[in-house]
Amino acid sequence: MNDDQLSTPMSEKTQVSEKTEFEFQASVTEVLRLVIDSLYSNPEIFLRELVSNAADAIDKRKFRAISEPEILGEEEPKIRLIPDREAKTLTIEDDGIGMSREELIEYLGTVAHSGTREFAKAIEEAKKGDFQLIGQFGVGFYSSFLVAERVDVISRAAGSNEAHRFSSDGRSSFTVEPAERDRVGTSITLHLKEDCLEYLEEFRLRGLIRTHSDYLPHPIELKVRRPKSGGEEEGDAGEEVRFERINDGKALWQKDPKELEAEQYEEFYKHLTHDFEAPLAYRHFRVEGTMLFSGIFFIPKRPPFDLFTEGAAHGMRLYVKRVFIMDNCDALIPRFLRFLRGVVDSEDLPLNVSREILQDSRVVRTISKQITKRALDLLDELAAEKKEEYLEFWRAYGAVLKEGLHFSPEYANRIAKLVRFESSKGEGLVSLDEYIERMPEGQESIYYILGANRQLVENSPHLEGLKKKGYEVLFLTDPVDAFAIEGLSEYEGKKLISAMDADVDLSDGAEDEETPELGKLEAKIKSALAGKISAVRWSKRLTDSPACLVIPPSGLPPYLERLLRAREGEMSEPPRTLELNPKHPLIEAIREKVEAGEEGVERYLEAIYGQALLSEGSPVEQPAKLASLLVELLTEKLAGQAATPGGGDVRRESEG
Ligand code: ADP
Repeated sequence: MNDDQLSTPMSEKTQVSEKTEFEFQASVTEVLRLVIDSLYSNPEIFLRELVSNAADAIDKRKFRAISEPEILGEEEPKIRLIPDREAKTLTIEDDGIGMSREELIEYLGTVAHSGTREFAKAIEEAKKGDFQLIGQFGVGFYSSFLVAERVDVISRAAGSNEAHRFSSDGRSSFTVEPAERDRVGTSITLHLKEDCLEYLEEFRLRGLIRTHSDYLPHPIELKVRRPKSGGEEEGDAGEEVRFERINDGKALWQKDPKELEAEQYEEFYKHLTHDFEAPLAYRHFRVEGTMLFSGIFFIPKRPPFDLFTEGAAHGMRLYVKRVFIMDNCDALIPRFLRFLRGVVDSEDLPLNVSREILQDSRVVRTISKQITKRALDLLDELAAEKKEEYLEFWRAYGAVLKEGLHFSPEYANRIAKLVRFESSKGEGLVSLDEYIERMPEGQESIYYILGANRQLVENSPHLEGLKKKGYEVLFLTDPVDAFAIEGLSEYEGKKLISAMDADVDLSDGAEDEETPELGKLEAKIKSALAGKISAVRWSKRLTDSPACLVIPPSGLPPYLERLLRAREGEMSEPPRTLELNPKHPLIEAIREKVEAGEEGVERYLEAIYGQALLSEGSPVEQPAKLASLLVELLTEKLAGQAATPGGGDVRRESEG
């Protein structure tokens, strides 16, 4: 914990038996202000957030009861809404897991993950009026202050006889003191602002529960007053007070999809994820057969802040026979679908299932396969029917999906259909199917080039021959591309070939005859560039550039190799094959000089090697040295100063 996460007791006498005042953690104060500023036009969401927390608390209690049955009372745990017109309060009560004194302070007085870079970013976005990211950090409780000027939370944790009251006006501090509660659970009493008294009305509360919380698998009851019908409960003369159930208590995933509206899925999604935005897409599934399970998965519009953090918690929530078992159950979906959120409810798993058991459970493998298949179906449909939304998906999650090419080869072909690349044909993204469709006659393979960004690969000399032939080249500029593409050597019977690979052959056979022997040039280059290159040969891919460096068949793309070598403390360039353009006048001239036994060509070879590195976007080891070499050579040419024996005007000599 850093300082920011600690609440500072203001009173010296921090006796737990007394009322103690605490400062909110600094980021809570900030979040509180943001919540109130950004959601003031939509205050009713407070009820969804509080009921959602209550439902989660009941889930947690039921889960603990699997191993400690005594944790649960006789009655079915419920959520109760109690409006009190006289006191102008609305109380949301639950029979959930409850909170201890420490938990009240930690859960309601601090924000998890505050102090992280991602949190700071979410705050910044929220300040700009975009409230979507902040929801991920668990700020639901603070929405109480949209409608309340003071909030009292009385809670008794499961397994304890003590209760505590947390009380705050949502400004800078809160108090905690001992309190009474006759059973386990939490009551949140909102002292409503004068302009929020509508939340005491029965029709208003019923309406809100119906739209926002109907799908919850726990009973929600509302305290109502009814004309007396012989009952003798408290209340005004002629009226009786009773609790009426206002939701059907059936979990959404158990309902018939035909009877559900998009809004209901949306609300359920918001309950599950604390997202304030509707999901991009979802699918409701029921699988019956040798195994029985059902569920719903969603694709959030925006990726979670920790999508690429190792071990980050997201994913599916697991229920067994309607009992909540665990959140973030990563065994239920492959890594490349880790952006999915949702629930799975299995009839076949035991209630006491653990993460370890899940890892090698046959049931889980079947579930995972079924979800994967459905998720890929959903993405296929999205790609075919809603191109814009699919691109939105791709921008958010493409890099994650591509991991599957490498790590889940059994799905590589299906994923390959969904992958989109930048390419040499225009700015937009292209699918492999589209690429194949527009391949010119005679093109047999799919070509791509790997590099750090579009600008670098676009101008790489490796593309010259391909461009001349009118072949499209895919630009693989995402850091995951290098290893993702390894999982995809072929698509629809077409090989995927790197434009930097040594065996790219674009010759039509006839050109071969014109290529002279390398002759003495080979030995000269090998000695001049010893340690820098592994081989020399004539190029069949260059048209305009004098030279380029290519990767041997088993080699890594240069920027990746560099990364690995840097990690091992090795900074020099990995030796590669130097390809020379036999038709380039510079190369012709050098070859002639070497053949004629002239000395001093090493400097030209240095310069050619340097420009080959620069033109593919690789760094040169000693840029200053290369720069002065180029100045030296240019000076010789333009000012006619022959600095070395046999030096001089390269071009003129080659022509002469
Ligand atoms: P989130 O629910 O997104 O984590 P909240 O601010 O709404 O964020 O709640 C913070 C935490 O407080 C919850 O994660 C939960 O542990 C605890 N909490 C909130 N409401 C209740 C409740 N009714 N019963 C038990 N615990 C609760």
